[in-house]
Amino acid sequence: MSIDLEALYIDLHRHPELSFQETRTAGVIARELTALGLEFVEGLGRTGIATVIRSGDGPVVWLRADMDALPVEELTGLPYASTVHGVDPAGHDVPVMHACGHDMHVTALLGALERLQETQGEWSGTVVAVFQPAEEHGAGSQAMIADGVLDRFPRPDIVLGQHLTPLPAGTIGVRPGTQMAASDGLTVTLLGRGGHGSRPHSTIDPVVMAAATVMRLQTVVSREVDPRGVAVVTVGSIHAGLKNNIIPAEAKLELSLRYPDDDARADVMTRVERVIRAEAAASGAEREPVIQIDHTLPPTINDPAATARLTAAFDTAFGTGTVVDPGMFTGSEDVSWFAREAGVPLVFWFWGGLDPQVYADAVARGTVNEDIPTNHSAYFAPILHPTIERGVDALVVAAREFLG
Ligand code: ZN
Ligand code: ZN
Repeated sequence: MSIDLEALYIDLHRHPELSFQETRTAGVIARELTALGLEFVEGLGRTGIATVIRSGDGPVVWLRADMDALPVEELTGLPYASTVHGVDPAGHDVPVMHACGHDMHVTALLGALERLQETQGEWSGTVVAVFQPAEEHGAGSQAMIADGVLDRFPRPDIVLGQHLTPLPAGTIGVRPGTQMAASDGLTVTLLGRGGHGSRPHSTIDPVVMAAATVMRLQTVVSREVDPRGVAVVTVGSIHAGLKNNIIPAEAKLELSLRYPDDDARADVMTRVERVIRAEAAASGAEREPVIQIDHTLPPTINDPAATARLTAAFDTAFGTGTVVDPGMFTGSEDVSWFAREAGVPLVFWFWGGLDPQVYADAVARGTVNEDIPTNHSAYFAPILHPTIERGVDALVVAAREFLG
C-alpha cells in the first residue's frame, strides 16, 4: 500500500505547528515510517525525527526536510486552509499557517523514502532522512546536532535538501556557490539617561540616539559595501518610551543582516558595530550599547562539483530546460549546519509550486512581484500537482545520483 501523498499534504497543511512545537507533525511522520516498516528516532532536537534505509556498502546520503509553520493567518481561501491558532514564544495567541511550504517538504520526503525503499535492490549505500524542527527560528538543525544526530546515525558523505518556491511547478532552481545568504539577528540596546520631557538637557535621549543609529546604518550597504557584492542591513523593530513627556532610559533595535559568505559577514558585522558604538558616543552615552546576537545562520553554499552532477541528473530525468539558475536568495536557511559540522558537500535546490499559466501571465504583465505570493505570504498556495510528484522525484533522482 502506498502513501496517499495528497491526503498527507492536506492533513499537514490543515494542522500547522510553530517552531519546536511540531509534535503532531512528528507523530504523522512516525506513523508513516512505521507503516513503511522503518525504524526511527524521535525527539531529536526536541521534536525532530530521523530514519535510515540501508542497502549494503556505499555512500551515505542525507535527505533533509523541515517541518515547522509560521505565525501567519491564512487568506488563501483554499478548502483545506488552516484555521489553527498556536502560542508563540512570547506567550501570545497567534494564527498559524504553513506559509513556507514545509508541509510540502515533509510530504515529498516521505514519498521519496517509500520509493527508495521499493527500489532498494537498485542502489547501494545508506539513506538517512532527517525531519528537522524549527527552521524558521534558525535553531532546529543545531538542536538536532546537539542531540547527537550526526553520531547516532551514519555520518553523511553529502547532505541534500530542497525548498518550495514561487517558480512554475515542474521547474527546479539551483546554482553552484552561494544559493542563500548568511544571516544574523541582532538585538541592540541603546543606553541613555531618562528624565522629564521638559528637561532634555538633563537626559541622554535614547530616542534620538536610536533615530540617528537607524539612519546611519543605512549607509553601511549604500556607502561602504562594494556595490558588486550583496548585503542587507534591515532594522525591523524599534522600541522606546511609553509617554510623550518622559524621556526613556533606553531604546531597543532589532536588526536583520544578510551576506553571501563568511568574509562578508565579518566585514558587515564590524561596520554595523562601529556605527552603533559611534552614534552612542556622539550622543554622549555614558554606557556602551549592548549588542546581542540572537541567531546566526551560515550561508547556504552549494558544492560546485556536486551541483554540476545533480543538475545533469535533473536534466536527464526531467528534460533539458527544467533546471534554471534562480540567482542568490537573500533569505537564509539552517540546513548547512549538518554539512558544515560533518565537513561534507551540500546541495540545496528549489522547486516550483505555481500554476505555470498563472506564472506566465504575471511575467507577461510584468506583475510577478504584485501578483505572485511568495513564501511567508498569507496567500502562499502551491498547486498540489505536479508539485508533490516533482518534489518526490527530485529527491529520489538526487539520492540515486549520489548513492552507489
Ligand atoms: Zn520560511
Ligand atoms: Zn522555509
